[in-house]
Amino acid sequence: MGAKGWFILKLLMFQGLFVSRPQEDFDFFYFVLQWPGAYCDTKRACCYPTSGKPAADFGIHGLWPNYNGGSWPSNCDPDSQFDRSQISDLVSSLKKNWPTLSCPSNEGFKFWEHEWEKHGTCSESVMDQHEYFENALKLKEKANLLQILTNSGINPDDGFYSLKKITNAIKNGIGFTPGIECNKDPERNDQLHQIYICVDTSGTEFIECPVLPRGRCPSQLQFSKF
Ligand code: AMP
Repeated sequence: MGAKGWFILKLLMFQGLFVSRPQEDFDFFYFVLQWPGAYCDTKRACCYPTSGKPAADFGIHGLWPNYNGGSWPSNCDPDSQFDRSQISDLVSSLKKNWPTLSCPSNEGFKFWEHEWEKHGTCSESVMDQHEYFENALKLKEKANLLQILTNSGINPDDGFYSLKKITNAIKNGIGFTPGIECNKDPERNDQLHQIYICVDTSGTEFIECPVLPRGRCPSQLQFSKF
């Protein structure tokens, strides 16, 4: 091969680095789970989905690409609209595990669309829409958070538990330290609202968090009934 041939070959190989294996444009995911009791008792309006009151379990809030510095990308691809036909096989599981609580009461497609368009479109270099929702569902099953907490005597019974005890129970259960986020109930009690678990860029493996979210939790927090 002549010099020109080599040049063209090298050019193709160089291009291939970018074309066939796109670089991730984020550093890790936050997998965010929400306690429905803490969402509902703070909102002026919380509406159960059309399928009825969700189970007293953590629901998925989202799978959010994040940067190690603490910031995150959002709404990365306006051309990639949410397409419910791509996830039709996942809908019954999504209704159960990723329940909407916004008003007016609806099936959930609005919430899933919001999460896909705001966060999911920023992970398109590693997963398509079906994989995005499927990965989140698998992560929820793998984390099994409510079981981990109840096994440690931490129950959604309006009782107060120490932040340390909650964090340690999850750390022992999944092997990695979670971020815990609190909000306030109408009596101004701090309560467990969301749990953040860090996930690698493939969207499948839990990792140690490069940066923990600021959780606004005091040392004692309430685990509200739902
Ligand atoms: P995000 O934009 O992904 O950071 O999520 C925040 C948005 O999701 C807000 O508009 C919330 O009101 C909404 N949200 C949070 N939890 C739920 C839920 N369980 N059902 C419906 N909307 C929710």
